[in-house]
Amino acid sequence: MTIGILGGGQLGRMLALAGIPMGFRFRFLDPSPDACAGDTGHVTVGSYTDEKMLRTFAEGVDIVTYEFENIPVQTVELLEKQYAVHPSSMVLRHVQSRVEEKKLCTSLGIPVAPYMTVDSAEQLSMALQQIGYPAVLKTCSLGYDGKGQCALSSKADISKAEKLCTTHACILEKRIPFSRELSLIVTRSQDGSLVYYPLTENVHAEGILRVSRAPAKEAESLFLEATMYAKALTEHLSYVGTMTIEFFQENDHLLLNEIAPRVHNSGHWTIEGAETSQFENHLRAIAGLPLGPTTTCGFSAMVNILGSYPDLAALAALEGVHPHFYRKKPLPKRKIGHITVHHFDEKKLDETLGSLQSILSTAS
Ligand code: ATP
Ligand code: MG
Repeated sequence: MTIGILGGGQLGRMLALAGIPMGFRFRFLDPSPDACAGDTGHVTVGSYTDEKMLRTFAEGVDIVTYEFENIPVQTVELLEKQYAVHPSSMVLRHVQSRVEEKKLCTSLGIPVAPYMTVDSAEQLSMALQQIGYPAVLKTCSLGYDGKGQCALSSKADISKAEKLCTTHACILEKRIPFSRELSLIVTRSQDGSLVYYPLTENVHAEGILRVSRAPAKEAESLFLEATMYAKALTEHLSYVGTMTIEFFQENDHLLLNEIAPRVHNSGHWTIEGAETSQFENHLRAIAGLPLGPTTTCGFSAMVNILGSYPDLAALAALEGVHPHFYRKKPLPKRKIGHITVHHFDEKKLDETLGSLQSILSTAS
């Protein structure tokens, strides 16, 4: 079976690394000639809106999927005329816009942070009266790694927020004083079966994910809440594949932050830490296969490598450490790899994370 993936970044690369053992072959479409998935399959270099390149990419593929949600919906609709595409264009329509995503959640009874849509300086001022400080202004679409966001702590921040909302459709969101951030990774198969990974605890800095740990501690009732929301969402969307839901924990409850219709950075630990990885389960789902168990054993952490590569030999010398280098060009704050740490003893995991931090700080 040949699987076509729109996008040839690290997620595409890791999907292929999970699928090659099952005998799958991969083709990618990516605007960049340096797409790092090129190590694992053929990359057609072209824009997502170039129909000729779309046809070249799709030659001989059996199923199509995507590794990021900002693919134009029209591209996916075009491919759907001829190919099975999972998740569907209908899913993309709901999750590409923060407003549509929040409306969907509200209609399913899933709580989200208070927000208002903002398209002008007047609307920003009205929304700030309603929502108050601190708040976050976000572009409705195309944001990632905290890009397209503006934090508003006081009136002093208004002028830069005005610039953003007069050039882009935005939402103003209350800044949630969360106790922690958690994500749930779920996979739904074509026959509607669902598997869930344990909740993952995520630490961000400057809007970028730095460290994930799983299973999250003291999260039994939150897991029940999260899986209830995941079931409602995936069933409503007739979802096929792996989905990630990011949450804020506020007191003893969850607020949904974002839905990613794909495998996710906070699920990379599942490669070594779960019986079936998020990548393998995504492929099983889209290929119409039964899903694999998500059982975990011991404790995992994932640390992102941003900006520059650490010394591989120093990493390899640490017990329980698994380096993943994406072979992307190092650029400041760019995600170019990650490291999974897996231990059966949690104390050992903490110790290894300490050693890892000193190796990473010498690299940058
Ligand atoms: P991603 O890289 O996950 O796609 P993104 O750029 O789409 O990120 P968000 O997930 O909305 O953006 O925000 C990134 C991070 O910024 C969040 O994980 C959180 O740490 C912080 N953040 C965003 N919105 C809020 C909020 N309303 N209250 C508190 N913190 C927030
Ligand atoms: Mg996010």
